[in-house]
Amino acid sequence: MSKKKIQAIRGMNDLLPEQSPLWQYFEGKMRSLLARYGYAEIRTPIVEQTALFKRSIGEVTDIVEKEMYTFEDRNGDSLTLRPEGTASCVRAAMEHGLLHNQTQRLWYQGPMFRHERPQKGRYRQFHQVGVEAFGLEGPDIDAEVILLSARLWRELGLMEHVTLELNSLGSSEARAAYRDTLVAYFEQHHDQLDEDSRRRMSSNPLRILDSKNPEMAPMLAEAPKLIDHLDDESREHFETLCAMLDAAGIAYVINPRLVRGLDYYGRTVFEWTTTALGSQGTVCAGGRYDGLVEQLGGKPTPAVGFAMGIERLILLLETLALVPDAARSQLDLYILPMDDAATASALLLCERLRDELPGLRAQLHCGGGSFKSRIKKADKSGARLALLLGEDELTHSTATLKFMREDREQQTLTQNALGEALVELLGHRDN
Ligand code: ATP
Ligand code: MG
Repeated sequence: MSKKKIQAIRGMNDLLPEQSPLWQYFEGKMRSLLARYGYAEIRTPIVEQTALFKRSIGEVTDIVEKEMYTFEDRNGDSLTLRPEGTASCVRAAMEHGLLHNQTQRLWYQGPMFRHERPQKGRYRQFHQVGVEAFGLEGPDIDAEVILLSARLWRELGLMEHVTLELNSLGSSEARAAYRDTLVAYFEQHHDQLDEDSRRRMSSNPLRILDSKNPEMAPMLAEAPKLIDHLDDESREHFETLCAMLDAAGIAYVINPRLVRGLDYYGRTVFEWTTTALGSQGTVCAGGRYDGLVEQLGGKPTPAVGFAMGIERLILLLETLALVPDAARSQLDLYILPMDDAATASALLLCERLRDELPGLRAQLHCGGGSFKSRIKKADKSGARLALLLGEDELTHSTATLKFMREDREQQTLTQNALGEALVELLGHRDN
């Protein structure tokens, strides 16, 4: 009987060595940016009690209704693989007293899990990096998180390929009043609602606006707009935010149908979208969720944040050919003992060079082989330079630098002069 190979779970991807430099490039940019804005990292478990997500994201949402990985553990407790990061972040911040009489600017990163139909830009395990700011109620912090994301687009060369969509969902009172207006409108157009939407008429009519069903689009375009029914405070908050973005030179479009797929949002909501990825066009989404902490049993705490889908951003960088050389796997130097007698010396020389040049990316040839196969491996490594050590070199304490990618004469140098020569050739890097 042949044994069937076990494969990865559908919609859950391996990140292969060829791809990881690009992820590290993106993650490095993001990490440095967050540090420059004074955000601190928080890490939470990937499994939480199911009730956390039901209570925060909302029972009548796509995520809770059909996308969660929920299971019973051995004690019979209902647990869920986190579908997003905000709920866990709020839970942890409350649990550890981070929200008591203080403000917090936090960020997180990691895998999220949703049982969706896998396709390009949509997976069952995907990764998000997100920020959450707690304890600040003014539009200044809304503007800050948007400016932070805008700076990331500039640093990645993406600014001209993304659009900021903005809306306000008002206060919960304004939403409740608007809800009646909206339901009355949908009742008039009942025949045009799909099954999902009819079900949501009584439970969550605002969510109908978020429908991706193209047949409903014309009817939805004519629906009354929440932004025309805002309470005064929310209107002022929104207008001030818009003025701050104008002053910072950030372009946006107001999209009155932007409601977001999670229940905890109020007032400001926004999405950064792109047309370069087909229908999976949202790369970053967020907004204000002033009611969530209280909803989860804490004191009323204003909050705002966003989450970015890393897979989509990586796809976008690749699609637009915006992957810099630094984000490709690259070795500077392949250190090659020409025969087994040179192995031990090559190992030591390699260590010495690593001491001398902390940024050097060097690989030592291991595993022996004929001279021909060694040279082949040096070539295959992709390194720009090879450093050859043979009998002659050992006798004279020298090493021979061979240029693997350029038409250039090889050079034999004393081992003491190698450090300086490499700095010259490779440029200074101190990472
Ligand atoms: P969508 O409308 O595309 O389903 P969403 O509103 O469900 O997105 P959020 O919960 O706001 O998405 O998540 C924020 C970001 O995370 C999205 O904008 C997207 O970039 C990414 N994302 C969400 N779901 C997935 C997924 N299944 N696979 C890959 N990325 C995802
Ligand atoms: Mg979704």
